Amino acid sequence: MFEKIGGCTGKNMKPLLDGIGRKITDLRLSVTDRCNFYCSYCRDAMAPSIGQRSEILSFEEIYRMSRILVGMGIEKIRLTGGEPLLRRKIEMLVRDLSGISGLRDLAMTTNGYLLKWKAAGLREAGLRRINFSMDSTREERFDKLVGCHAFAKVLDGLQAALAAGFDRVRLNTVLIRGMNDDEILDFVEFGKRMGAQVRFIEFMPLGEGNRWRKDLVVTAEEILAAVSTKYSVLPIPRSDSGQTSREYHVPALDTIFGIIPSVSIPFCDRCSRIRITADGHLRTCLFSASEADVKKHLRSGVSDDEMERFFRDQIYQKEAAGHQGESPDLATSCRRMPTIGG
Ligand code: SAM
Repeated sequence: MFEKIGGCTGKNMKPLLDGIGRKITDLRLSVTDRCNFYCSYCRDAMAPSIGQRSEILSFEEIYRMSRILVGMGIEKIRLTGGEPLLRRKIEMLVRDLSGISGLRDLAMTTNGYLLKWKAAGLREAGLRRINFSMDSTREERFDKLVGCHAFAKVLDGLQAALAAGFDRVRLNTVLIRGMNDDEILDFVEFGKRMGAQVRFIEFMPLGEGNRWRKDLVVTAEEILAAVSTKYSVLPIPRSDSGQTSREYHVPALDTIFGIIPSVSIPFCDRCSRIRITADGHLRTCLFSASEADVKKHLRSGVSDDEMERFFRDQIYQKEAAGHQGESPDLATSCRRMPTIGG
């Protein structure tokens, strides 16, 4: 769709470092703040959405920004939201981003509701990996959690994604005590049956009103203990220094599952991520208290070199640590997940 200008050409490429020497390689791009699910821990049904369509970055703006960032050292882009499949013609954006030279990975996080119709087209457009968010394996509970009858459609979406030949399909499950923590073993077995790896994510304090309490967090230790009541579990050594999940092999099932212990064992010292919100704000940490206005720069006619300087300045100031894990005054972020891009 757009004129293709190479991103990283490989020549004179220096790693993109923040002020404390972390290498920044991952960009999470929220393409919309709208969602068709109403998971109460994630979004606030009463909260206004971003509003005017013109507030949301256009595909042209997303492409330009991504091309500049890949040229600076970003290697992986994950499209998220809100629900990214609600963004019209998302396949066109995928096709354009996948053509940026130097980009090594293009992935998406989705609730899967629309994937039955979109999986093949997205794969064909160049999407490499898909993460599914799924917080229950039980139809009635699932539908209640997401606030609509969606379980059957999500399973169809999962089958379509598996059939479309993505490099990897994962299931992401946020565990919340009293909500779904009785399904840990069910999830590991479900993942094995479906042929998709499960990753358990600790519940994080994001935005006022997401009902986060420390005692609701099901910790990595508890998750391991639950799986170990039935199966022996072997830790898998980390393959990549920026890896946020801890992975485990269950020999009896010949399957792997992962845990992202963001709260009980924060990994800020290895964080390689930045985020851009659907309305064009750069967040250098999920828990950032402030944001930089990328959209204003993009729309003020600045050159690519000026954009690059702006990004470099902001990334240099990336927060050393987002939250203090065990500290009782764990901060809540100013935005909730759908507007940040999870
Ligand atoms: N709509 C897409 C989806 O459902 O995957 C993408 C956006 S959604 C905000 C991305 C992920 O963030 C989901 O897996 C959701 O469970 C997770 N999430 C939202 N709030 C969270 C929180 N407070 N702690 C941990 N994960 C959270």
